[in-house]
Amino acid sequence: MSRYSDKKDGARLHPDEKTPFACRVCGYRAAPGGAGTRHRNHCPNCLHSLHLDNEPGDRASECGGVMEPVSVWVRKGGEWAVIHRCRRCGTLHSNRVAADDSPLKLMSLAVRPLAEPPFPLEYWERLAENGGMTEPDGF
Ligand SMILES: [Zn+2]
Ligand SMILES: [Zn+2]
Repeated sequence: MSRYSDKKDGARLHPDEKTPFACRVCGYRAAPGGAGTRHRNHCPNCLHSLHLDNEPGDRASECGGVMEPVSVWVRKGGEWAVIHRCRRCGTLHSNRVAADDSPLKLMSLAVRPLAEPPFPLEYWERLAENGGMTEPDGF
């Protein structure tokens, strides 16, 4: 069996509600049915996904790359969704969080930008002192 056909077979082992989910990234095995959605599209333990879809659920992508959770955002009605970015091709997808997703992983994704702001913290303090106005000389 060639390496290529190995990869294709692996990519077809995609999780849905009928088959148990075995994560290719962390090895976690999730019970079918725990996600609370029709399609489990990412691992509830490490939140990684696979690039198998062009549109959600269509299995039409040829890529098969690992999709890394890079952020969360809040949809209308307060529902959380995870932004996944493909390590191989850079495609971004948004996926609803599932009922059994790790709350700890979701929270650490959500606060990551706050923990690593792209500007010095003194700048933030100065901004607050000036009532939100930036100074003409910048930093
Ligand atoms: Zn995982
Ligand atoms: Zn991809």
